[in-house]
Amino acid sequence: MYTSTHMTPLFVSYNDIHRYCQDIAARIENDGWQPDCIVAIAGGGLIPARMLRTFLKIPIYVVGLQRYDDATIIAEEPQTTQWLDNAEKKLHDKHVLVVDEVDDTRVTLSHCTRALLEYQPRSIRIAVLHQKQKPKTAELPVQVEVVYAAQVVGDDWINYPWEAQDIDEHDTHIG
Ligand code: 5GP
Repeated sequence: MYTSTHMTPLFVSYNDIHRYCQDIAARIENDGWQPDCIVAIAGGGLIPARMLRTFLKIPIYVVGLQRYDDATIIAEEPQTTQWLDNAEKKLHDKHVLVVDEVDDTRVTLSHCTRALLEYQPRSIRIAVLHQKQKPKTAELPVQVEVVYAAQVVGDDWINYPWEAQDIDEHDTHIG
């Protein structure tokens, strides 16, 4: 577990994220938990999910949940923009790792895991790059066993490399 001492805002590199995913995969292995598949929450979970697959070697399925529209208005409930085909077949009785980039208010992860529990997975855990230590506005369902977080941060805004218009400029902020 890495604990950040950065001040706001926080910038992370692709290499940092690759290392965080390696760390999460090692912790999953150490726990003796063997996920059957990843459910990536698009868009922030996509690149971490792909990096995690390098270590976990399991399929990635994608769901789309959006809390911010183009005007960056925050919706109370995330809007589903994409869901799983044959979800019952893919998830029933399976060990499922849900991947997103950050657990902020927890609304997205709560909404997503509750929806996935409808398919009765055998177990469900979450992996995020960043856990924001702040009061959460939603609770995870009790069936969610573990949340793996590579970094614990404050309520800082995190700048991910895939959002950069200029990746070289982005990288100048990385110590
Ligand atoms: P929630 O509040 O539901 O936990 O997070 C919703 C979404 O807001 C996240 O999946 C992420 O896309 C976005 N988000 C929240 N905090 C941050 C942040 O610090 N940086 C970035 N880039 N996105 C964030």
